[in-house]
Amino acid sequence: MKKVERPKKPLLFYYMVVLLAMILLNTFLFPRLMRQEIIQVDYGTFLTMLDSKVVDFLHNPAKYQEIGARMPKGVLLVGPPGTGKTLLAKAVAGEAGVPFFSISGSEFVEMFVGMGANKVRDLFKQANEKAPCIVFIDEIDTIGKKRDGSGMGGNDEREQTLNQLLTEMDGFEGSKGVVILAATNRPETLDPALLRPGRFDRRVPVELPDLQGREAILKVHAAKVKLAENVDFNAIARAASGASGAELANMVNEAALRAVRQGRKLVTQEDLQESIEVVIAGYQKKNKILSDRERMIVSYHEIGHALVAALQTHSAPVAKITIIPRTSGALGYTMQVEQEERNLMSREDLENQIATLTGGRAAEELVFHSITTGASNDIEKATKLARAMVTRYGMTEDFDMVALETVTNQYMGGDTSLACAPETSAKIDQMVVDTVKAQHQKALRLLMDNEAKLHELSKFLCEKETITGEEFMSILEKKA
Ligand code: ZN
Repeated sequence: MKKVERPKKPLLFYYMVVLLAMILLNTFLFPRLMRQEIIQVDYGTFLTMLDSKVVDFLHNPAKYQEIGARMPKGVLLVGPPGTGKTLLAKAVAGEAGVPFFSISGSEFVEMFVGMGANKVRDLFKQANEKAPCIVFIDEIDTIGKKRDGSGMGGNDEREQTLNQLLTEMDGFEGSKGVVILAATNRPETLDPALLRPGRFDRRVPVELPDLQGREAILKVHAAKVKLAENVDFNAIARAASGASGAELANMVNEAALRAVRQGRKLVTQEDLQESIEVVIAGYQKKNKILSDRERMIVSYHEIGHALVAALQTHSAPVAKITIIPRTSGALGYTMQVEQEERNLMSREDLENQIATLTGGRAAEELVFHSITTGASNDIEKATKLARAMVTRYGMTEDFDMVALETVTNQYMGGDTSLACAPETSAKIDQMVVDTVKAQHQKALRLLMDNEAKLHELSKFLCEKETITGEEFMSILEKKA
């Protein structure tokens, strides 16, 4: 018997099979990646934040065609993370009553060259079939990054995907009623070609919500939980100054959890108030024991902040001071309440803020004649403010209205880069030191002039652990 040897298949064959399988898998998986949702929730309140023309256009594209107006094909939502860009995009779709497709930029990034471009083609094909509709591309910076001019090498795949996106945007008939919304928190990294007229030529800033916005957002999220009658959203919104949309949603949820833990069926005002602190400062760390001396130091530190704030007429009064340690590591904190929304800060306001930040350390120095590590966060903030006053706000005589620093990454931490000579840089450093020093001295002076109150308030806080703004003010205003 002669044995017939079967020829071995080349390795390349197996590679091809695997490749083919992956491509097939990808094609079938893709429709799942694109989520189509019909939004029924009324997010009307959010819409004040967005150009309602887009909604009107989606309702009635013919009206705009008639007069020959070109509606935007692409709208770029720009803002820091957690400000509710996705929610806003959904709100627009919900308000207009059109289908909403969402995809994340990172989903276009593929291992194989050409696959990303394919996905873009498919996306636009689907969108055209469902028009009028909204296509939402989250994190567009992952595919829309500036192309580098080197030509050779580089990221071929990403570039092809971006080119396909540009071609599709140019190609589709704007009058059909497809609006592309894209979100990014790094607008400065986007390729200029993306921002040209006819592409993403509209930019809607989505900033942290203001007082009115916070109240509206709280109400939207609170609609899902059962509320007691005493809930005052305005008060909560005031106390949650600086919170993002995501944090506000979190606060409502934390309040509901707290109500459940305490065996109640309704969420009360106290639940919401406590949840603000949970979201901002973390949970209470009940098992952390501070020594008596440490408690005393923390009390004086926090009262120092509050007292300096209250003694400077322009500083916001305190709402609450507490020395209960939190999981975030804070040993205590002073919660300030903004009476009104501030859009402009004067030089005096900023100086007062720096003085307030140094107030904690100043009280420690004055009473204990020693300094602790407790002020590290205050130091960081005070330095940042003082630096901005010198380099960005033009608040010094010497440098006048000259920008010495530029913000390179506005929405992601606000990194800055210095643009000046080394000698200037040294001078800036000196001015920052001088600014902080002057305010530190002012805080010391204020506390020294009111030392009796400092002692009285600190002892009261140390005893009670948490005191309210009213208690604080009544002691402060009480005649000795
Ligand atoms: Zn402090």
